[in-house]
Amino acid sequence: MPEMQDCYLQPHICGSDKWCELNDHVSWNEGGTTTRGRCLEFQDRCASCSATAEEGNPFVIPGLIGTFEAKTSEDSRPFGSYIQRGTRCGPEDICTGDSIPVLPATCVERRSLPSDHDKPLQQKMYEWGKRLMRMGAFNWQRNQPGKGPKDQTAEGSTREEVHAGVNTILSGLWNPALWGRFENLTIESTYDELCCNWDNYTAQLSQFQKDRTGASYRFPMDPNAEEIGNAPSCLWCDFDGAYNDENPSIWSLVHALTFNLPMVLSEYQYTLLSSLPMWLREHLSCPLCRSHIEEHLIGLGVPTSRSGEAWAHFFWRAHNYVNEQSEVTRCGSQSCGWGPWETPESYNCAGVYRYAWFVPFPDAQRQWTVQIVV
Ligand SMILES: Cc1cc2nc3c(=O)[nH]c(=O)nc-3n(C[C@H](O)[C@H](O)[C@H](O)COP(=O)(O)OP(=O)(O)OC[C@H]3O[C@@H](n4cnc5c(N)ncnc54)[C@H](O)[C@@H]3O)c2cc1C
Repeated sequence: MPEMQDCYLQPHICGSDKWCELNDHVSWNEGGTTTRGRCLEFQDRCASCSATAEEGNPFVIPGLIGTFEAKTSEDSRPFGSYIQRGTRCGPEDICTGDSIPVLPATCVERRSLPSDHDKPLQQKMYEWGKRLMRMGAFNWQRNQPGKGPKDQTAEGSTREEVHAGVNTILSGLWNPALWGRFENLTIESTYDELCCNWDNYTAQLSQFQKDRTGASYRFPMDPNAEEIGNAPSCLWCDFDGAYNDENPSIWSLVHALTFNLPMVLSEYQYTLLSSLPMWLREHLSCPLCRSHIEEHLIGLGVPTSRSGEAWAHFFWRAHNYVNEQSEVTRCGSQSCGWGPWETPESYNCAGVYRYAWFVPFPDAQRQWTVQIVV
């Protein structure tokens, strides 16, 4: 009978492609051997895992074999429990747990934060806010030549109502200790933007961006990279006058606001946050995205909690759900419009992702929570 290799007694025997699963053999005998460890292989990417997402981020403390639940949340076992199932994802990957309704718990590649990621600085908050001011206008669908930044036509609500709504949402959820007193945004502040079809805009695009989808081009793994990063901002003047980077700016603003809420919300803030999914459902400029809000946000269960963290967690989870399904991330099963040299045929990559899409909660916290230095 082969000798059992106990990684509790010899923690390093598992090497880098295995992990040490511990369990307690509860003993009533003072001299009994209690804790035992066995080396198990990590699950392959795309294989199932039955751990929660938090298990992908065990604490690293010298002398502690990191195989216990690192964080408590509604859907995980108490802090300090040993991981029970032998299905743990590799260090590059993360288990989605039960956070994505359409996906059973699966090992997926984690999306790492690029070093030059966007941060919730005051100036950025106002820039993202300007994107909201131009949301939800009438989409002409067919090119309207000659239109400029001042030409937006209402769709449903008047433009003035949309502008007032944006200022109401922002002023109510704004954290003045971080960004100063909120100054109302005006639509006039967007009038000096370039239209995406103007020559002085297209001249700014790198050849790489031009060869892809021009002003629509996005690179989620490193959006601010030169040449291969996102196309610079502009307005779709000949369609609806919205910003080309409206979508990521909405997410950025929503995360920045919700990760910096007070621990306990006022009733007014709670009402604003509860209305936000419906606001997006009515006013997002992307019709495809609007049509999925019911499924991607409302269906997740809009929180009834007055805790700021619950709302940060809700929008983090919703964003990961959308990331899993977005046109930018998916390969094959959606038309990504990048031309045949970049878009593999669906039979080649059904179920495969173009980019890593799952942002772990601790990374989202790191990106969006402003640390106050005392
Ligand atoms: C409400 C809403 C619904 C949408 N629905 C759809 C849809 O149904 N189909 C579709 O194809 N597109 C949809 N989009 C667009 C899509 O989500 C992306 O915004 C778009 O594909 C651009 O992606 P991106 O990689 O440039 O940036 P984004 O993914 O938008 O990222 C913006 C910023 O958020 C950070 N981030 C990314 N994920 C998380 C997370 N989970 N938690 C916290 N921060 C995160 C990133 O680091 C980045 O700084 C929707 C957008 C919004 C705002």
